Amino acid sequence: MSTPDRYERQRKLPQIGDAGQHKLAEANVLIIGLGGLGSAAAMQLASSGIGHLVLNDFDIVETHNLPRQRIHRPATIGELKTESAKQTLNQLNPDCEIRLISHQLDEQELIEEIKKSEVVLDCTDNYESRFMINQHCHTLKTPVAYGAAIRLEGQTSFFLQQEDTPCYACLYNDSAQANEDCAGEGVLGSLPAIIGEMQALQTILYLTGNLHKDEHKLLLFDAIKLSWQEIRLQRNPACTVCGKS
Ligand SMILES: [Zn+2]
Repeated sequence: MSTPDRYERQRKLPQIGDAGQHKLAEANVLIIGLGGLGSAAAMQLASSGIGHLVLNDFDIVETHNLPRQRIHRPATIGELKTESAKQTLNQLNPDCEIRLISHQLDEQELIEEIKKSEVVLDCTDNYESRFMINQHCHTLKTPVAYGAAIRLEGQTSFFLQQEDTPCYACLYNDSAQANEDCAGEGVLGSLPAIIGEMQALQTILYLTGNLHKDEHKLLLFDAIKLSWQEIRLQRNPACTVCGKS
């Protein structure tokens, strides 16, 4: 199978090459949430040649989404975010196969979708969803590209969900849940896209065998200082999800 010229610059990289590009074309990636994080990540993954994307969201596009959710357009206000996103992704790269799930997944449905995926992008905006995604991805050993953005702060990490690697619950425990959200706290328009792009980048690195498997870190971005902070992560022996295994 010949690789289209569209990926020429990417294939030139020795770290990617034809083999890496082929892996991206074969990959199945699940994106949960099509807000600011998921919009940016989905557009980058589709553009970069990911072959199969599953998009999950049950919200509709609203006017106040537009500054940070560039996958949606004024013309798609009132439409399901999944349908709106698919229109944009089809234009960006018709070769990307897209499947939509436009309702909130229950636990069993989530498990089934994780089983079909090589990577899950957690682009949700609440702790309950993040803990549930982490729990099932840990059980199924499916990596999670995690991101969060609020006010002027963003964070991201890639949880491999393998033996001895840390998980989201090593970092946060469910008793520490806060009710902060972007609706109440605000968020700078460009911030979620920066974090979503990082989730896409880590996904591409993982799928092409370029992610450092022995370095587990949380990256924190300060949008005022324009600085990244790196925190080394280790498995928490007391973690309620991975600590007992
Ligand atoms: Zn853990």
